[in-house]
Amino acid sequence: MKIFDIISNALFPNKCICCGEIIGREDFLCDYCYEMIEYVDFSKVCKRCGLNKKECQCKNRVFHFSGSIAPFENKEVARQSMYRFKFGRAIGGSKFFAFEMAKAVKTVYNDIEFDGIAFVPMHFVKRLKRGFNQSEVLARELSKILGIRILEDLLSSKYSSKIQHDLTFKERFSNIKGRYKFNYNVTGKTVLLVDDIKTTGATLDECAKQLLLAGADRVYCVSGLITQSKKGKKTNGN
Ligand SMILES: [Zn+2]
Ligand SMILES: [Zn+2]
Repeated sequence: MKIFDIISNALFPNKCICCGEIIGREDFLCDYCYEMIEYVDFSKVCKRCGLNKKECQCKNRVFHFSGSIAPFENKEVARQSMYRFKFGRAIGGSKFFAFEMAKAVKTVYNDIEFDGIAFVPMHFVKRLKRGFNQSEVLARELSKILGIRILEDLLSSKYSSKIQHDLTFKERFSNIKGRYKFNYNVTGKTVLLVDDIKTTGATLDECAKQLLLAGADRVYCVSGLITQSKKGKKTNGN
């Protein structure tokens, strides 16, 4: 080990993105958290809405996106890791989630050629408060891994005082209407849309609608986490 590595390991030990335990340089999770984390089984979910086939929402609602996937369910180790990244600025989590999201894209969307990556935007006041937009951070990591360019400033967000996670399933869809707008045309392009957590799909649906209005041919979503069976329930996400 080089002297620089020894010093940096002592000063800034690498920590488990979920529980904070000190781990090896190359790892993201400690052995315990790695054992506990549950991956989504892509053979059991609807490729359009991303939900378990029994809970598929596609009969009740026509989504503007053509597909939606996530490597993890919004629970336990994956949920805690995402929240540490999102609210605790544990930035190592972004690399872990982007890596797993890239794997999911390569597995489920293996026959799709993407022209660019868009992400769910955050109003600049909110972004200023938090210091970063977690969806943008994930999108930029994904862009590096997949070699797909970011469609810069394609979507922007209006200010809203109403927070999505205080609302029910139905309220979320009406609250989010008109929140986003596109800034230029992407005629004929196939777009990969990135978000941190898919809860009801209302945010992704509204963003996908804007991308279609901007001329996109198709929009496919990838998020770090997906919430299953959420009808009417209040959760923390979009
Ligand atoms: Zn851990
Ligand atoms: Zn479905």
